[in-house]
Amino acid sequence: MFDNLSEKLDGALHKLKGHGQITEINIAETLKEVRRALLDADVNYKIAKEFTNNVKEKALGQDVLNSLKPGQLMVKLVKDELTQLMGGDAVGINLSGTPSVILMSGLQGSGKTTFSGKLANFLKNKKTKNPLLVACDVYRPAAIDQLHVLGEQLNIDVYSDKGNSDAVAIAKAGVAHAKANGHNVVIVDTAGRLGIDEQMMNEIGNIHAAIAPSETLFVVDSMTGQDAVNTAKAFNDVLDFDGVILTKLDGDTRGGAALSIKSVVDKPIKFIGTGEKMEAIDVFYPERMADRILGMGDVVSLVERAQEQFDEEEARKLQKKIAKNKFGFDDFLNQIQQIKKMGNMKDLLGMIPGASKALKGIDIDDDAFKGIEAIIHSMTPEERSNPSVLNASRKKRIAKGSGTTIQQVNQLLKQFDQMGKMMKMMQGGGGKKMMQMMGG
Ligand code: GDP
Repeated sequence: MFDNLSEKLDGALHKLKGHGQITEINIAETLKEVRRALLDADVNYKIAKEFTNNVKEKALGQDVLNSLKPGQLMVKLVKDELTQLMGGDAVGINLSGTPSVILMSGLQGSGKTTFSGKLANFLKNKKTKNPLLVACDVYRPAAIDQLHVLGEQLNIDVYSDKGNSDAVAIAKAGVAHAKANGHNVVIVDTAGRLGIDEQMMNEIGNIHAAIAPSETLFVVDSMTGQDAVNTAKAFNDVLDFDGVILTKLDGDTRGGAALSIKSVVDKPIKFIGTGEKMEAIDVFYPERMADRILGMGDVVSLVERAQEQFDEEEARKLQKKIAKNKFGFDDFLNQIQQIKKMGNMKDLLGMIPGASKALKGIDIDDDAFKGIEAIIHSMTPEERSNPSVLNASRKKRIAKGSGTTIQQVNQLLKQFDQMGKMMKMMQGGGGKKMMQMMGG
């Protein structure tokens, strides 16, 4: 996410930090580089210029040159400005009304249907919400099927009316269906076109008028750069929407859309999509995103993701197993599944301060665990629960079965052993011992 921009901003600010004495000249140079980094990230020229002007003004106002740590202060000013540019405070979605009606808009392929599923799942996980998905794409039967597949996968009801070509009528009937069946949230997925066209705009405008949503969301593919901003403008003119959803931020996006949309349409970005999986949805926090862009990580989000996956009952069981020395490879496999559910690896690592820079150029993908999983899958149940039985011939068989080498099998066993020791230590009042070991 934003790798290029991060790198360039880091370069610009790093220089400043490295200078023994900071002068007006190198502040000006830095700001020029910051501006260039923004332009390269596909941020609109006017916005980029305003950005650096604002930082400059604040730097002068705060007398950066005479401050204790001018470099750090400059980094802070850039971070604050990035946060402001992306919207300042996080803004939630309006769930008023019974049912609350959420309308999705956006071009075809922007990720509307995927996001409708993600949002429904996100709200369902809040326990008090019982969402209904409504399929209003009357032009592409496949889109209706896609929503049904998602609904089944997530165990969320979907309303559709395949023979009907009147999208407004379907939307209204969907809301009525929700009311009659005790759904307190309705998410209406609509048809999109490849580009802005009048018919599509009329249709979405009519649906909007007919169902009076409490929340209208505009979904946009962040990979489309400046186009994303133009599309947002066109949709906002018709719908006066409440918030923006930026999808595909997991890809190789330059980031311009995330940085420009707020100031062009003056509507907050509310969620981001960071992958094709249903779990790949994040509330958008401008400040946390600014931290990430500046390579400062986002530990808060990382912890939140971990908490979402945390199951107290499971954790208790696991604790007992560790105490009894019964933590086996099946449990290990289970842990890996949990981590994978938290999101794609690159994204997770990007939340650790400094990690994306340190890991630059190293290709980390979701297959990171593949070798480990293959090795464990090649073990017998007995071997998984009691790894001490693994002798040379068993290891050879496992390596062959998993398409790995004996060295890799040994390495995993060693890591597993170390992990076991560490967990045991953390358990039995060993927290202190552990701290001592780490020099604390
Ligand atoms: P719609 O036409 O607006 O309903 O778009 P879809 O929901 O069908 O999404 C179009 C494509 O983008 C699909 O292949 C999705 O899997 C993919 N997609 C949607 N959101 C994301 C995302 O956040 N990240 C990635 N990598 N792909 C996404």
